[in-house]
Amino acid sequence: MSGNAHEPSCLFCKIVRGDIPSSKVLETEDAIAFLDIHPVNKGHVLVVPKHHHPHLVELPEALAAHVGSILPRLCRAVQAATGADGFNVIINNGTAAGQTVDHGHWHIIPRFHDDPVEWPWPHSEYVGDELGQMRFRIERELRPNPNDD
Ligand code: AMP
Ligand code: ZN
Repeated sequence: MSGNAHEPSCLFCKIVRGDIPSSKVLETEDAIAFLDIHPVNKGHVLVVPKHHHPHLVELPEALAAHVGSILPRLCRAVQAATGADGFNVIINNGTAAGQTVDHGHWHIIPRFHDDPVEWPWPHSEYVGDELGQMRFRIERELRPNPNDD
């Protein structure tokens, strides 16, 4: 699959190349999955496209689709291997969201009814017409740009 070159200073590119060891559980032509070295819960897996794209928003659709296609199998394996009661699949995108490695990746985090992980996040409320306005703004961003091919 075409894509960006590997970034020499990137930790996950080094893991993809095998320059840094990892506990790999799955490798496909375009992605690898390995154990997070500092797991939220044991069995925490990272799914990493082989090509270097710093953020999710830069991923080609085919590559994002490929990772999506292997997630159910990986999640089943994590849940079966850990005996987890459930799991979270999350992506941290940008430092504001807690991303520390600038090579887009998915977290699969096994969860247990009695685990100490702080979840769910706090939820807020829309006031007045904020909800409708927000829907409009996101919908507008999703509309095809007439200047694009
Ligand atoms: P994020 O904070 O979403 O960018 O996730 C980066 C993750 O990479 C963290 O959960 C780290 O624990 C994990 N991590 C950092 N270095 C390594 C490594 N050498 N092998 C495996 N996982 C790592
Ligand atoms: Zn990289």
